[in-house]
Amino acid sequence: MLDAADSRFIAQTYLPDDLPGAGAAPSYWFLFQGDRLVVEENGAQARVPCLTDPATAGFAPVRCQVLGYLSNGAQRIACYSGELAGDLALPPGYRGDTLRNLYPLLGDGWFQLAGRAVQIVTWDATHQFCGRCGGPMETLVHERAKRCPACGLSNYPRLSPAIIIAVTKQTPDGTRLLLARNHRFPPGRYSVIAGFVEPGESLEECAAREVREEVGITITNIRYFGSQPWPFPNSLMLGFTAEYAAGEIVVEPEEIADAGWFAADALPQLPPRPSIARKLIDAFMTAQGLQPTSS
Ligand SMILES: [Zn+2]
Repeated sequence: MLDAADSRFIAQTYLPDDLPGAGAAPSYWFLFQGDRLVVEENGAQARVPCLTDPATAGFAPVRCQVLGYLSNGAQRIACYSGELAGDLALPPGYRGDTLRNLYPLLGDGWFQLAGRAVQIVTWDATHQFCGRCGGPMETLVHERAKRCPACGLSNYPRLSPAIIIAVTKQTPDGTRLLLARNHRFPPGRYSVIAGFVEPGESLEECAAREVREEVGITITNIRYFGSQPWPFPNSLMLGFTAEYAAGEIVVEPEEIADAGWFAADALPQLPPRPSIARKLIDAFMTAQGLQPTSS
């Protein structure tokens, strides 16, 4: 058994010839019933099942896909994803749950792999037919793509880039962080500003537009922070930091319930880990000489 936290994951659309294929050796199976990942129950932990053949274990995937393999140098284990019928009763010892719920039990490594898996499973399920001529699509073997043999249309897994940005402001009382409350958030929660990139827009233009639209201020000194795949359902979050330039906060009422400038030692309820929103806020706290809170 390998662990995703200690091993390197090598993404592949097919398995290399020196690794056994599905059903021939124990492999990690990321099986989804809708948006619920099937895990082995193991006390307070959840494990991605390592199965030789999912069918003999009581799972018969409707479709399956190669994800790649985990390697620690000495050992390699193939990873597959699969879609289960919605009405399949899971065998004893297994349960299905959403990735958000499973994150604390799975940890970063398995969560990231499961996030990759659910997006590939969903793409495969929802792109069986050509969007132009309606004919059946063919899955290509050597790249993560499908192609329509009738009309030639190609199709790749969809990713939706979104920016997320931590804006700070220098005040006579110290540095403050811009946080906003979206109507969709759980009661009391605030976060940094985020929004989807529009066609034809650079990431920096998107960052400036989102902040202007949501809270009415302009920003400067936009810097890249880091990125995070976010499989709800297919975002790629691109994190930035920026500084306040001008304007007063005026919230966009359709989307934002409230927004304000917060001191590092007086933050409201924050988004949970492993979100990049939380990483941005933690970095702000660290820059202000405070330890990020654990909860
Ligand atoms: Zn076609």
